[in-house]
Amino acid sequence: MDATGVAARAADLWKVYGSGEAQVVALRGVNVELERGHFTAIMGPSGSGKSTLMHCLAGLDSVTRGQVYIGDTQVTGLGDRGLTKLRRDKVGFVFQQFNLLPTLTAAENILLPLSIAGRKPDQQWYDTVIDTVNLRDRLGHRPTQLSGGQQQRVACARALVARPEVVFADEPTGNLDSRSGAEVLSFLARSVREYGQTIVMVTHDPNAASHADRVIFLADGQIVDEMRDPTAEAVLDRLKGLDTPAAAVPPVGSER
Ligand code: ADP
Repeated sequence: MDATGVAARAADLWKVYGSGEAQVVALRGVNVELERGHFTAIMGPSGSGKSTLMHCLAGLDSVTRGQVYIGDTQVTGLGDRGLTKLRRDKVGFVFQQFNLLPTLTAAENILLPLSIAGRKPDQQWYDTVIDTVNLRDRLGHRPTQLSGGQQQRVACARALVARPEVVFADEPTGNLDSRSGAEVLSFLARSVREYGQTIVMVTHDPNAASHADRVIFLADGQIVDEMRDPTAEAVLDRLKGLDTPAAAVPPVGSER
């Protein structure tokens, strides 16, 4: 475990897609530390680099320049085998589209990452997770027999059951009605406050972001602001300021 209390970190992170005229600079020297046991939301206009930042942090995408660390593991130094191990052992994912396997029951989906890794669940923790997401009476159901909110709760349980260093959630409420979305968010927030989980969530929804401890605002591939203990209103106000052309937003804390 990293002793500094930082669960994930990016240092001078650049990501360039394509080349020549088709070149897109998605991240321009991002420096960020994500504290362990905190719930961080990443926000910004469409195309500002939110998904790219999350994918680079999670080891799902290569970086052009700079370093990424998960705990004390330097993600950017890993080969294919190291990356597979990192994704299996250190990170959990929650996606907008749930990404459950349709032929497996809820319980089998939840336990799948552990079975692939050849690990046994900690029974007490498994029970805590199942009760927290309130899925005890749905464990034998397949995804098609569950509502969207229930499916996303299965996906949250799957991400949390291995107690990963960081859970990355990409628009986890994007496909849910507001009530189911609120349930999923309060469960994610509870896993942070009560069990010390670290969560990083990309969202465009100020209500979703208000469940986080900290919001990081991206514009044009740079971090331009951040907010602690956000309210939905304050987040919305800050986002309005970012919807101007990206070039008009002065980069904060950037030496470039
Ligand atoms: P956001 O998640 O904030 O909407 P993205 O990280 O998806 O932003 O994209 C940032 C920029 O990088 C955008 O200009 C987008 O078009 C570009 N981009 C993202 N993925 C690719 C890719 N695979 N190939 C080329 N350009 C990409």
